[in-house]
Amino acid sequence: AAAPEETPVVVFRSKLPDIEINNNQTLQDYCFAKMDEVGSRPCIIDGQTGASYTYAEVAALSRRAAAGLQRMGVGKGDVVMNLLRNCPEFAFSFLGAARLGAATTTANPFYTPHEIHSQAEAAGAKVIITEACAVEKVREFAAGKGVPVVTVDGAFDGCVEFREVIEAEELDADADIHPDDVVALPYSSGTTGLPKGVMLTHRSLITSVAQQVDGENPNLYFSKDDVLLCLLPLFHIYSLNSVLLAGLRAGSAMVIMRKFELGALVDLVRNHNITIAPFVPPIVVDIAKSPKVTADDLASIRMVMSGAAPMGKELQDSFMVKIPNAVLGQGYGMTEAGPVLAMCLAFAKEPFKVKSGSCGTVVRNAELKIVDPDTGSSLLRNQPGEICIRGEQIMKGYLNDTEATKNTIDADGWLHTGDIGFVDDDDEIFIVDRLKEIIKYKGFQVPPAELEALLITHPEIKDAAVVSMKDDVAGEVPVAFIVRTEGSEITEDEIKKFVAKEVVFYKRINKVFFTDSIPKNPSGKILRKDLRARLAAGVPAA
Ligand code: AMP
Repeated sequence: AAAPEETPVVVFRSKLPDIEINNNQTLQDYCFAKMDEVGSRPCIIDGQTGASYTYAEVAALSRRAAAGLQRMGVGKGDVVMNLLRNCPEFAFSFLGAARLGAATTTANPFYTPHEIHSQAEAAGAKVIITEACAVEKVREFAAGKGVPVVTVDGAFDGCVEFREVIEAEELDADADIHPDDVVALPYSSGTTGLPKGVMLTHRSLITSVAQQVDGENPNLYFSKDDVLLCLLPLFHIYSLNSVLLAGLRAGSAMVIMRKFELGALVDLVRNHNITIAPFVPPIVVDIAKSPKVTADDLASIRMVMSGAAPMGKELQDSFMVKIPNAVLGQGYGMTEAGPVLAMCLAFAKEPFKVKSGSCGTVVRNAELKIVDPDTGSSLLRNQPGEICIRGEQIMKGYLNDTEATKNTIDADGWLHTGDIGFVDDDDEIFIVDRLKEIIKYKGFQVPPAELEALLITHPEIKDAAVVSMKDDVAGEVPVAFIVRTEGSEITEDEIKKFVAKEVVFYKRINKVFFTDSIPKNPSGKILRKDLRARLAAGVPAA
């Protein structure tokens, strides 16, 4: 709802002054702007194979990838799907597609065929770039659609090898690209419903990266002397933006890690003198708890960033013991917001030290407001309400979904996050609740609407609702309230197995509660709050 006109809008800004951001250019030109300075320095290092590419090589390989993709029919306005774990080829193809004026849609290679096909189809992927672990899941679908499949780790029948794609001569010149053209198309369910394509443009990503690493920014700066650990999945915008793109812009080296494993992580940190480690809270938990990881192992790290989910004070404190010389910066992001809304460096020098539990202050060149979710009117400091953000970094909208776009970005350009939080007297943001239905398992999105749609396809399920339940390990897990059809004796286990076949591991139903009816409002919307209240009260069944 729009704010009533008579209510003044209370706008919160960064403590840092705005900076000049040249976002009237392409993302690749912006990221490679310091080529003269960093061309011969290491850019991407494959942590698994040790292969290392300089900035000049990465730029050249992206021009080759562009030419190779063009040969396969990719052009301006098209979409390439990266169905990949972290690997150097992810960066080459992303930047290559960008040069053609094409966008990359990113997806988890551990998705089930059903999840992959839905996204590839909705995004209109023209080429799918993948690897051994996922190739069989796309082969039939791709053949049916006439979509070529490229593999980065070996030869597979009927597929093209990535090394053949980059055998092409370098692309002469980038396509004629407008800053408002889409360059990244991650999928997110946003505040409600099924996953949707989030259109992030050259302009929005340049703005977001600049808000983080450009100018005099004592909050979060990378330099060309930094070595970043690229462990978080690049198919999520947090890693794509705040690690790969921000790292490129800063001229840092990035060490790519495919899979999280503590021993391998320690080896990489030691062997490459990693200085910056972007994590999510579940990884922080593992490190804090493991007697095998010592402060000595992590001595080269000067900054740890954590985002995507909340990190409490106890966890912060136990983790700081392992990184006594480093600062810990929390960030708050949402795919649709480009994604970074706020960031901080806890334990850093004044005046940027923030309180425990805060996720920092709003980024520069942006406006933040808190609104009453019922009336839409703007709230003052210390009053919790829905967090809204405005600035050139936010998404252009959802792909082919003007309705969902209108419900998320209002007529005045404010993006409504569906998060409940407040801004305190020191401009620090605290997230206290979530208005939206999304469940976050270790930072991964679990859209209830997707699971509900799947559950009701079962002939013995009459109605279903999925909500989140707190979990010590994952943060949150999805649980289902189920109304069986008359006479059905379907069991919890059968329902769990039915879902598990169709979804990636973190979307699996953790618990099933049988009930007589699902509470809904008159227009048929599930009253999730009521269900969550039932869980909290410990009497889930009706
Ligand atoms: P995604 O689009 O997958 O990045 O998910 C965005 C959502 O994750 C946000 O709208 C929040 O609900 C949640 N989130 C992200 N960062 C934080 C944080 N630092 N603390 C609490 N919740 C967070």
